[in-house]
Amino acid sequence: RFLTELDPAVVDRVKQFVLATRNIVITCHVSPDGDALGSSCALWFILKALGKNATVVTADCAPRSLQFLPGVREIVAATRNGDRVHDLIADADLIFCLDFNDITRVDRLSDAISKSPAKKVVIDHHLDPRIEGEIVISRPEISSTSALLYIFMWQAGWTRHLTRNSAACIYTGMMTDTGNFSYNSNDPDLYLIIHDLMRKGIDKDNLYKLVMNTSSESRIRIMGFAQYRMQILQPHRAAVIMLSEDELKEFGYSKGDTEGLVNIPLSMPEVTYSVFLREDAKNCVKVSMRSKGEFSVSRICEEHFGGGGHTNAAGGEFNGPLDKALQKLLEIIPTYDKYLQ
Ligand code: 5GP
Ligand code: MN
Repeated sequence: RFLTELDPAVVDRVKQFVLATRNIVITCHVSPDGDALGSSCALWFILKALGKNATVVTADCAPRSLQFLPGVREIVAATRNGDRVHDLIADADLIFCLDFNDITRVDRLSDAISKSPAKKVVIDHHLDPRIEGEIVISRPEISSTSALLYIFMWQAGWTRHLTRNSAACIYTGMMTDTGNFSYNSNDPDLYLIIHDLMRKGIDKDNLYKLVMNTSSESRIRIMGFAQYRMQILQPHRAAVIMLSEDELKEFGYSKGDTEGLVNIPLSMPEVTYSVFLREDAKNCVKVSMRSKGEFSVSRICEEHFGGGGHTNAAGGEFNGPLDKALQKLLEIIPTYDKYLQ
């Protein structure tokens, strides 16, 4: 039915794992986005429908824009309830790792998950999986973990347990990882999946509004301020946006306020890639990059900022003051000219 087909033997093994266990933990990457939360919550609903004792645990809380997502309120976040998260991980027979390719992406949960004797099943779409698990379903060509999970569930015969709520979770993940189906969205399977989800009763127009129309005043002002000061490095086809810790404070920044900011410079035809440096704390600069076409920002993030990601969306960190982060960036940018077309 779908162009993408998972190895039926692998799907079957996951089903056997689930059948044989009772306590299941689902987790996703730190600072969870729509795809991480959408896939996690959707799987949670299905496992509960299968009679399992399942819990979604995360390193930190869901952003405000995703609080509406069905199931999000039942997530146990380590920043709020560290002891419970550790107990759940220790008692789990099976752990689903969704939407990450490296155990460090679960941040403070890395140790607990690595040490847990539970079997691990990874379902992910990031490049170069470096994560251990009894089963690793890694399909970087699929635009979201949520779409991949849907195909998995369809092959497993689980989609009949999908409800309007769990369908909304899958849809939200697919939508947010493709910019509302404006990039990485030429896979015909996506539209077959959407057809199924709509038949489960989702209101896709309303889901878009729920995710997108949640800006705070601080977000609108910070986004404007940052764009006003953007630097364009014209010979290198790069744009750089920066926000210092003091500026964030002054604007009353709260987490999620700069979501999507790094994408904005790409709307200029002369810009091939965009970099956003955000000083989250002293000597702790979050690096976010986006690009167009073949130009790989995950390479830059891997080689210089201890991170990674996808060809067109990647991130990492710089441990040092913001001006030093900028200095390093300006030094390395010319070395990537050779990859510009
Ligand atoms: P964002 O810029 O939205 O924070 O992240 C975009 C993508 O880059 C994420 O989906 C993730 O794949 C990757 N990414 C972001 N930060 C990091 C990081 O610190 N380490 C790694 N390995 N990947 C990251
Ligand atoms: Mn994803």
